[in-house]
Amino acid sequence: MKIALDYDETYTRDPEFWDQFIDLASDFGHDVTCVTMRRPQNKIEGLQIDVIYTSFKGKILYTQSLGIQFDIWIDDNPIWLLNDVPTRDNSRPTRNRENDFPVKYRRARIK
Ligand SMILES: [Mg+2]
Repeated sequence: MKIALDYDETYTRDPEFWDQFIDLASDFGHDVTCVTMRRPQNKIEGLQIDVIYTSFKGKILYTQSLGIQFDIWIDDNPIWLLNDVPTRDNSRPTRNRENDFPVKYRRARIK
């Protein structure tokens, strides 16, 4: 299986758990890739797996545009699998300094 793992608020919630998950998946012949909506300039350090930066594009369409097809998606906020992060008219979104994610949408969740 090709598994896509979100970073912010997914991997970051329990890095030790996810590191073991990644090792276990590898032992079983599965491939885990980190897919984040961050921009490449806001680089994620210290991960043992490849990272794809979608730069606020919806994750599924973006990775498909790269010719990559994931079987499983693990994400705290799956709305971003199919949707780009909206931008405000005539202004840049306010971004979280820690992860460069638009603050306005950071906590948005499907209820
Ligand atoms: Mg997340």
